[in-house]
Amino acid sequence: MRARYRFAKWTLSATPAMAVRRFGKCLTCGERSADTADADNAQVWCLKHAGLTHHSGYELSAFQYFDATMTDPGIEPHAS
Ligand SMILES: [Zn+2]
Repeated sequence: MRARYRFAKWTLSATPAMAVRRFGKCLTCGERSADTADADNAQVWCLKHAGLTHHSGYELSAFQYFDATMTDPGIEPHAS
């Protein structure tokens, strides 16, 4: 069996309209806040959750959306 591979160059770029998103997560029960562009909102969620539950371990995480764009289509074998 013969495999055919196509090589191309791709680049990642941050989605311009989407800022970095942050959310807080409780390490005791696993509940997490909605993600928000404002880190303060994620921390406030942790404080409110601590006040309600007395859970004491938290994680603040951030993520970002990217677009993948083909910058060089490369060489496709056997194309004519
Ligand atoms: Zn909790």
